[in-house]
Amino acid sequence: MTPERPNVVIIGAGFGGMEAARALARSPVEVTLLDRRNYHCFQPLLYQVATAALSPADIAWPVRWVLSRQPNLTVFMAEVTGVDTVSKQVQAGSLVLPYDYLVLATGATHSYFGHDEWAAAAPGLKQIEDATSIRGGCFSPSSRRSWRRTKPSGGACSHS
Ligand SMILES: Cc1cc2nc3c(=O)[nH]c(=O)nc-3n(C[C@H](O)[C@H](O)[C@H](O)COP(=O)(O)OP(=O)(O)OC[C@H]3O[C@@H](n4cnc5c(N)ncnc54)[C@H](O)[C@@H]3O)c2cc1C
Repeated sequence: MTPERPNVVIIGAGFGGMEAARALARSPVEVTLLDRRNYHCFQPLLYQVATAALSPADIAWPVRWVLSRQPNLTVFMAEVTGVDTVSKQVQAGSLVLPYDYLVLATGATHSYFGHDEWAAAAPGLKQIEDATSIRGGCFSPSSRRSWRRTKPSGGACSHS
């Protein structure tokens, strides 16, 4: 009988999680990749979506499609709600996944360095919804005047 292979659970299919999954492609492990979205978003191009130079589909690729050639990988779309490091289990709603090794790659959020009131003038730009919201604001005639002075916050302005 073949001994069971160690179970690696990766949370997050951003740059970090995708790279970790790829790096384990030839390792003797079973990999489970979880993300609350079914796509990988290429964040550096969010600005182009926010300014309507690209559409959301140009910067988002289904995780399963990108990693479809990796036989030791299972992908789930699920929002992780908790990690029990004692019993080594990841909880995502009703799904409970045991792990031997855990990779947490859930990204970062933007910060206003104690000045949350800046959010109205500098909305966050970390996900496609942020970009389409900024785009809507820029191109809607009613809000054009106020949005002209906004500056998205993300990328180099944000911190982990
Ligand atoms: C606008 C912008 C421009 C940038 N430009 C550049 C650039 O030019 N060059 C450069 O090197 N870097 C750039 N960056 C930075 C780079 O994109 C990030 O450093 C990188 O995406 C971080 O990768 P990550 O895997 O840590 O997180 P992310 O890419 O944010 O991925 C985290 C993933 O975790 C998932 N997730 C989070 N919480 C949960 C949960 N509870 N359950 C399930 N899934 C969850 C999210 O859905 C997401 O898919 C830019 C970033 C932004 C926002």
